[in-house]
Amino acid sequence: MRIIDLRGKSLTRAELLAAMPRADMGTSEASDLVRPILEDVKERGAAALRDFEEKFDHVRPEHLRVPAEAMTAALETLDPEVRAAIEESVRRARAVAANQVPKDFHTDLAPGARVAERWIPIQRVGLYVPGGKAVYPSSVIMNAVPAQAAGVESLAIATPPARDGSGLPNRTILATCAILGVTEVYAVGGAQAIAMFAYGAKGSEPQDGDVLCDPVDKITGPGNIFVATAKSLVSGFVGIDAVAGPTEIGIIADRTANPSLVAADLIGQAEHDELAGSVLFTDSPEFADAVQENLKLRVPRTEHAERVATSLSGKQSAIVLTDDLGHSIDAANAYAAEHLEIQTADADAVVPRIKNAGAIFRGPYSPVPLGDYMSGSNHVLPTGGTARFAAGLGVHTFMKPVEVIEYDEEGLKALAARINAFAVSEDLPAHGECVLSRFVKDPYDKATL
Ligand code: NAD
Repeated sequence: MRIIDLRGKSLTRAELLAAMPRADMGTSEASDLVRPILEDVKERGAAALRDFEEKFDHVRPEHLRVPAEAMTAALETLDPEVRAAIEESVRRARAVAANQVPKDFHTDLAPGARVAERWIPIQRVGLYVPGGKAVYPSSVIMNAVPAQAAGVESLAIATPPARDGSGLPNRTILATCAILGVTEVYAVGGAQAIAMFAYGAKGSEPQDGDVLCDPVDKITGPGNIFVATAKSLVSGFVGIDAVAGPTEIGIIADRTANPSLVAADLIGQAEHDELAGSVLFTDSPEFADAVQENLKLRVPRTEHAERVATSLSGKQSAIVLTDDLGHSIDAANAYAAEHLEIQTADADAVVPRIKNAGAIFRGPYSPVPLGDYMSGSNHVLPTGGTARFAAGLGVHTFMKPVEVIEYDEEGLKALAARINAFAVSEDLPAHGECVLSRFVKDPYDKATL
């Protein structure tokens, strides 16, 4: 891995941000590819979806909406060990999500003057579950569980058809949907799935019905560059959670950490993708050397050695050498990792100093794959430095706060003259007259005020 040596340098905030390793996303070329896909699905619905599935996923699904029997069959034939793992993951995710549901509250400001806040679930959401290079039943759980806990009425999942020629999604994904009670599942992937969610899609074959899919109010879930670009293009028309880029890990480690475990965790993230970022922040050059030695031993022996080696040697991965632990924390805050592991002598002292991270994994027994599958936390997290302002998926993603203004006569009367003064100062006197009309006979007669 390349070294970014920050020792002895006092960088401005802008310089520190620019020094952080990042992948190039290449979104503008993807936009040119994705725009016509969105337009075509909007225009031709299911017929366009079948054409794009044939083109990109090499199968023309007979049933774009997965029949109920296929879901039941997938659950019945699921390996019992995998089923137990899925059920454990669901149990823990549900326990955390139940605690995340925000509570309604109100503020009393004066007699007869109250502002209440109600959290309302989004009515219909579309959850994208990636399935191009690998399959991610875990992402079904991470999307669906918080949506269900939020009380979303209508929930649909789209995921590409498997490569077995059946035209149906991967069976473990279907079984996971069945375990979660999700019944509206589409064998549609990529940008075309995002278009289907955003605009809805009319049917083109008798089995589709007149309407294959109703439009949704919000689209969530990770995906490749085509999915991410499509989400950013439809955002504003529908809500989206975030535009996810390649996955990343940051690790803050000092000389007390185990270099073999740190190397394992850097490799674990690199396994996702050639563009995945693995970044170590350490104040110990000896520890950095030990990690590099461990990488030399481990990388050739791991299953996806080539992908891992490409990712670790890419410009988005690095070992960042710092002056001391405080400097490592500052650099990690600038990087704003999607996943941030803390492997230091006193991890509990570091956690409160982290300002930017998608999720924080404290200590050597909280590695990222625990969170990927079944810690109970969510694995759909902000990437590319967006953890500076964004959060991961959670119950809040599927709800919106709405303020309810509850003033009575006494409460409004006490403010009438002040509201009028404000309105007049903005040259919007009719605003003031709305309020005054409730208390005086002639709001246009300034003498009665
Ligand atoms: P994907 O489902 O995102 O994309 C596959 C789809 O891309 C296909 O269905 C196809 O329709 C479309 N496609 C393929 N080639 C195309 C082309 N040339 N033009 C237009 N469309 C094309 O699956 P993937 O490719 O495996 O990517 C999954 C991504 O999601 C990875 O980057 C992975 O790291 C990420 N991921 C992130 C998380 C997270 O929580 N952040 C979790 C799981 C996966």
